[in-house]
Amino acid sequence: MTAPVIEVEGLKKHFPIKKGLLRRTVGHVHAVDGVSFSINEGETLGLVGESGCGKSTVARTVMRLVEPTAGTIRLGGTEVTTLSKAQMRPFRRQMQMVFQDPFSSLNPRMTAGDIVREPLLVHGVATGAEADARTAEIFRQVGLREAQMANFPHQFSGGQRQRVSIARALALNPRLIVADEPVSALDVSIQAQVINLLMDLQREHRLSYLFIAHDLAVVEHISHRVAVMYLGRIVEHASKQDLFLRPQHPYTQALLAAVPVPNPRLKLKKTLLQGDVPSPVRPPPGCAFHTRCPHAMPRCKQETPTLREGAPGHLAACHLLDA
Ligand code: SF4
Repeated sequence: MTAPVIEVEGLKKHFPIKKGLLRRTVGHVHAVDGVSFSINEGETLGLVGESGCGKSTVARTVMRLVEPTAGTIRLGGTEVTTLSKAQMRPFRRQMQMVFQDPFSSLNPRMTAGDIVREPLLVHGVATGAEADARTAEIFRQVGLREAQMANFPHQFSGGQRQRVSIARALALNPRLIVADEPVSALDVSIQAQVINLLMDLQREHRLSYLFIAHDLAVVEHISHRVAVMYLGRIVEHASKQDLFLRPQHPYTQALLAAVPVPNPRLKLKKTLLQGDVPSPVRPPPGCAFHTRCPHAMPRCKQETPTLREGAPGHLAACHLLDA
């Protein structure tokens, strides 16, 4: 059996809070607090949760854009967590990122063609006419015209700009694309086109996606499996079907009840989420969701529930599973 494209175990990212003239560390933001998952070839793991739950920090830490505080990241079976920049170089080609806002992630002074061609040159994959031909081919793959290679980012619509970002991510034939809210800045009609493009590219290239979003309908459409994050931890992890039809964690149930998911088979009591996500500087003790959970029991304030199987292949972190 081949190794998963990516395996993440016990990933933590705590950002120090510094104060005073001496910049002493007075606390930590527990942005990611022990996250584990793996993604197989040709598979999409959707990562969902409210804003501030740590999803984007997971993305940046997995990409090694920020250094993890603890945990391991394996790419195709090789641990890359502590590799230096130079050692990381061949692995960088295997994983690429697509950001939420293509306008700020694309260099406004470069043409779209140069933006897509740049990684080929930097990694020594192709030069000259070969690089031009490869760039033109990628433009076609993402539904852009070859003539648009000469355009600057501001000359594209929002959806087209995100296609340029996807083209840049594809240039090096990656195995994994980490997409951080890639469609949330786009109009709904354009969102569907970009999602369908990502799904077509996945079929064509056996790509794996870590797809981060807060929009559950989008996640349901594109994902094979879904992990739900709350205050830096995964609280539920299951196949898309199980998670959307039989959510086990009260937080997932509340998230699903809060949005109009067009699924007549899903009959959830309307348990709307009360209050805001607590501060990740001082997460509540026990189950971090107890301050908002309608089912909270005295035990929930003291004991942190671990992620465990409530049904085959369906993990949730909630004391109700013991009942
Ligand atoms: Fe709610 Fe307790 Fe379950 Fe946490 S452990 S989700 S507080 S019932």
